[in-house]
Amino acid sequence: MMTTIPDALYTADYVVTQNAGRDVIRRGALAVAGDTIECVGHADVLTTLYPDARRVDLGRAVIMPGLINAHTHVSMSLLRGYSDDKALQDWLQEDIFPQEAKLTPQLVELGARFGMAEMIRSGTTAFYDMYMFEDSVFHAADEMGLRAVLGESTTKFFPTLVARDKEAYFDLVRRYSAEWANHPRIRQAVVPHAPYTTTPELLRECRDLADETGALFGMHLAETPWETQQCLTEHHLRPVAYCSQLGLLRPDSTFFHLVDVNEQDMCMLADSRCAGVHNPASNMKLASGVCPARALRAAGVPMGLGTDGPASNNAHNMLREMYVSSLLQKVHALSPTVAPAQEVLDLATLGGAAALHAPYIGSLEPGMKADFIALDLSFPNMQPVHNMVSQLVYAASGAEVCLTVVDGRELYRAGVFTTCDYAALLEEIQDVLAWIRK
Ligand SMILES: [Zn+2]
Repeated sequence: MMTTIPDALYTADYVVTQNAGRDVIRRGALAVAGDTIECVGHADVLTTLYPDARRVDLGRAVIMPGLINAHTHVSMSLLRGYSDDKALQDWLQEDIFPQEAKLTPQLVELGARFGMAEMIRSGTTAFYDMYMFEDSVFHAADEMGLRAVLGESTTKFFPTLVARDKEAYFDLVRRYSAEWANHPRIRQAVVPHAPYTTTPELLRECRDLADETGALFGMHLAETPWETQQCLTEHHLRPVAYCSQLGLLRPDSTFFHLVDVNEQDMCMLADSRCAGVHNPASNMKLASGVCPARALRAAGVPMGLGTDGPASNNAHNMLREMYVSSLLQKVHALSPTVAPAQEVLDLATLGGAAALHAPYIGSLEPGMKADFIALDLSFPNMQPVHNMVSQLVYAASGAEVCLTVVDGRELYRAGVFTTCDYAALLEEIQDVLAWIRK
């Protein structure tokens, strides 16, 4: 067997692997060759094996797989805190939609860069995004170095901000497909907004477009009981059954929210082998309801974890999202034993990989992509360490992240971003206030 000589050897007090045995290695090490993990093991052993590799000793820290934000609208960082504490439809119609109608590609790119800086700073290495002017997000992700599944979202309300009609939207998706094919980190998805903002014909054609362009398929689904009622009235089917009838439940599909789903819905999703995403903070803030994430997993639906857009969260912080996810499931079940820390960490890593249809990320094992982060354990909230997984899910805030690596490339280390001029970005984000006033 030919082995590759690693370029770098990262060592730390702990390595959380998320491998099949869920091993946590004391005084662990990770050997990286190019964009791939070559070896994971004890620091003493790997140091002897690879004496010539560049050494990065992180000391009192934990190395773990990069977190995967499986549903967001990254550019909505522009609208973080612009409107809170309103009912979903009022929030959308009175505040969010009127602002979004004034968006430009430049603003979307600025929001994307700023949201990605937040993700990199708080330990996210991959995300699944849908928004408007998505080519701005493609460019930002390409430059910022994150791994991503990106989709230009659409509704039936043509002309939209980006397309005068359906054909223009399809052409846009085809153009992105040609432009971004074979990118090492970025993959396209076709992402109609939701059942209640589309037509059956548009959804069928979007599904065909995904097949034609080799893109993934994603959509908001069963987010609220209101959506279920609306779907029953209009189509005489619950939202999941409606999607099933349209042929949308497929192994490359990912559905976001899945709050109002019954047992039959869960079986349909599981049988079709599509993935789901739990967005606890957004569902709580907008009072949408509680996604039965555990029951969905038990039924056999691969589940990831997402923040949703930062206008309804209001963060892109997956460490915070894990904490919220566990506590919500516990209080909902009125049982402290549900959603234990390991299960929640699985959602944010291996589950995220399933939701992004990227089986080469989510754990630290030989042959996997070198997407990993490190957290500084000298923060007072991270000591003492009785159980590292508990510490990550219940105690970490995101501020402890001291290293973020994607595809073997360091995007952030010890306070410094390597793929953006953060000071300049911070100045630029002030332009948002002028856009709001316009
Ligand atoms: Zn969303």
